[in-house]
Amino acid sequence: MPSEFSLIQRYFTRPVRHTALGVGDDCALLAPAPGMALAVSADMLVAGRHFLPDTDAARLGHKALAVNLSDCAAMGAQPRWATLALALPVADEAWLAAFAQGFFALADQFNVDLVGGDTTRGPLNICIQIMGEVPQGQALRRDGARPGDDVWVSGTLGDAALALAHVQQRFCLDPAAAAALLPRLEAPTPRVALGLALRGLAHSAIDLSDGLLADLGHILERSGCGADIEFAALPVSAPLRAYLDQDLVRDYVLAGGDDYELCFTAPTAARPAITALATPLGLPLTRIGCITAAGGLRLLDTDRQPLPVKVTGFDHFQ
Ligand code: ADP
Ligand code: MG
Repeated sequence: MPSEFSLIQRYFTRPVRHTALGVGDDCALLAPAPGMALAVSADMLVAGRHFLPDTDAARLGHKALAVNLSDCAAMGAQPRWATLALALPVADEAWLAAFAQGFFALADQFNVDLVGGDTTRGPLNICIQIMGEVPQGQALRRDGARPGDDVWVSGTLGDAALALAHVQQRFCLDPAAAAALLPRLEAPTPRVALGLALRGLAHSAIDLSDGLLADLGHILERSGCGADIEFAALPVSAPLRAYLDQDLVRDYVLAGGDDYELCFTAPTAARPAITALATPLGLPLTRIGCITAAGGLRLLDTDRQPLPVKVTGFDHFQ
């Protein structure tokens, strides 16, 4: 049986690129650039709650880091460092090798140094902390939305929730749709470049982890305003659109979690600049409504008549 220390050495110790001291001492030593604020966030993935215990380990390594990178993206922060706290039932080296491969492939893509963590025996649990840099005063916060702002989302909505329903056999997708949508659930792409490009353009931003209604609701609450959202404007993927006549799928678009797209608000004057980002980023950016002084979130049909809002986002304690 390999020791804890040889596992850390073998799987989680890599040369660092922009860190004074990485894995191996009591603390890592980090030096943010002058004028930069540290943007810090942690996300925990618990087996049986956030993922099925038999999920492919490489995809899990990717996803565990991706959801953290998504938080950096939502703040307009450049991800720089991560820590990894891991509880494992057994020291399964094939699992660790695959997990580390998925983790470091994404870390390399975003130039993130793994600088420390903790490794212990226990029920499978992955907790990653991400640290990024953002120029002081330029972070994209939840409390900056203003009446008259456009509300935008990146990418498409509901794909991950529909894929999860398929995996859990609550919904049957045709094989081509399943193949197209599964990566949206298991290997989401954090919208880091978009977050960086939105500095100075967006008034507020959030990443969509719990569903559009819930996450936009956080912006509205923190900003003290409301929103009118047009259902027909919500961007959906081609494979999901084929199922959009089903109420369940419409609910996934409105309130399905795990898409890790960005929802942001920006003044109408920023429309040309935001529209111009889509092509270089290779990412659709869609205006879905506007921020109102009146509180509450209103969902409108194509005739601007209110639609009932029955669904809310995911809450671990409800
Ligand atoms: P301590 O006893 O001070 O908590 P550990 O023995 O737990 O130290 O860890 C030794 C070193 O390895 C530390 O630098 C720690 O940050 C790092 N480390 C432990 N587990 C991981 C991991 N899963 N990924 C990255 N670094 C890790
Ligand atoms: Mg320790």
